Amino acid sequence: MDRYSLRTRKWLDLRFDPALVELVGHSYEPYQPVHGIRPGDWTLGHFMMAARWSWLTEVLRSTGADSFLDVGGAEGYVAQLVRTLHTPRSCSTDLSISACERAHEFFSIGTLASEAHRLPFEDGAFSVVYCAEVIEHLAHPIETLLELKRVARDVVIVASEEGVRDEAARAEELSERALSDHMDRSITCATDFELLFPGWDARIYGLCSELPTEVPQSSRDLVASLAGALHLDDFRSASEATGMIAVLFKEEGPAEFGSTMLTSVRDVVEFAFDHSAVVDPSKATLHGAYLPPRICVKCGAPVELLASATCAGCGLVYSRQWMTEDFVLQDEPDSESALEERLNAEFPDDAERVAACLALQDLLDFPLSPSLSTRQLPLELDAGWTACEGGQLSAHAESGLVLDCDAHDPCLFSPELYLKMDELEGVRVALEVSGLNSEKELFQVFFRTLNRPLWWEQASVTEAYRTEDGSYTFELGLPDAGLFGDNDILTGLRIDPSHHGSHSRILSVELV
Ligand SMILES: [Zn+2]
Repeated sequence: MDRYSLRTRKWLDLRFDPALVELVGHSYEPYQPVHGIRPGDWTLGHFMMAARWSWLTEVLRSTGADSFLDVGGAEGYVAQLVRTLHTPRSCSTDLSISACERAHEFFSIGTLASEAHRLPFEDGAFSVVYCAEVIEHLAHPIETLLELKRVARDVVIVASEEGVRDEAARAEELSERALSDHMDRSITCATDFELLFPGWDARIYGLCSELPTEVPQSSRDLVASLAGALHLDDFRSASEATGMIAVLFKEEGPAEFGSTMLTSVRDVVEFAFDHSAVVDPSKATLHGAYLPPRICVKCGAPVELLASATCAGCGLVYSRQWMTEDFVLQDEPDSESALEERLNAEFPDDAERVAACLALQDLLDFPLSPSLSTRQLPLELDAGWTACEGGQLSAHAESGLVLDCDAHDPCLFSPELYLKMDELEGVRVALEVSGLNSEKELFQVFFRTLNRPLWWEQASVTEAYRTEDGSYTFELGLPDAGLFGDNDILTGLRIDPSHHGSHSRILSVELV
């Protein structure tokens, strides 16, 4: 797995794990409305979710689908909706192991952890494959679209609120990308589907139009408002649309597609209002009741899961954590040549299309800066230091970095690091502080690691000091190693020179 995806996975694992969330001082809030959406609780976000589920429901209804896969399915709510309304053969995958565990726990849905561009299923394993609000986060969007196409027998649905109509709009979105744990890095354009799904009946719709200023709360008003917002206009010419949904039929799509949308919307709203959606796992019969046979994501041979989760072809062993099989490959094949090989196999007589796909991957690529593994961190602007919001970072005329911030809690973020936690004892920081108007101050350093990718209070070390203008050297030990887990990697530091607004010059930062 590449560095960005690994980082995202760790972030998601923390996001979806109640025990870890508690460790960082918060209580678990499901991403999906796993307890149903009560009147009074409907938000615009829920409205958009319900819009996506209505399109999905309409596809399932009009095609009579008998099996379903949600790729990037989080807590399995969509798979549960499909299982309740359409077919028992409904399952979910996610990059995050904890997300899959929550889907087991809440809905007893069949899940496994995998990367979206390497799904452990045979060709055509599911009649409908759905991937919503996921593609924009992926480092391998083209391989993922080909993979969705491969495992789908009849229909692929891709939804993205970040989807754009043309290349100009895409260029603008791409220019604004910034690295974060769950960034929008791969912006899909309507034309991508023509490029990657030649011969398919590709229908690209606006996900939603006429968003309500106030989201209705009664079932009847919600149905009317949602049904009014779902149009069968082409996304590229629709006058107003929030987001894009591509419905890709392998054969010609049903002529009457969309004609029962009102019923689909009703089904979805009724399901969302049902507060009993969460299954009692102790009463559930079987995890998911259905998962097709798995194949090795490396060589494609069948994987024997009953005893040892070992590939019959290459012998690769897949791990199992709790009940979730983990199909994520730790070693990353050369991604560029893998893509080229795959494209050549997919489009054997179409060199032009292959070249266009490779150019698209180049356009979407977001190269990460190399992470630092030196203990003495370079204090130069172009090393990748950033200031808090409201803070101004500049290079000092002689040496070091200057942080000016009038707001509360000034802070400075290090470049990305890669240092083994168990080889570190602490951090030494020398700085000059001035412009403070409180007598006593707190100097604080937060640690961010691969396993705990957050700036959280427990992962900080603090020293109180009397403020007189001048130089200070702080030597602080690491927080209790038990907080981070085994074999963890330090990936960043956040340095707070003071709690109140200040002018500070950082002279040196050293890990010891
Ligand atoms: Zn294998």
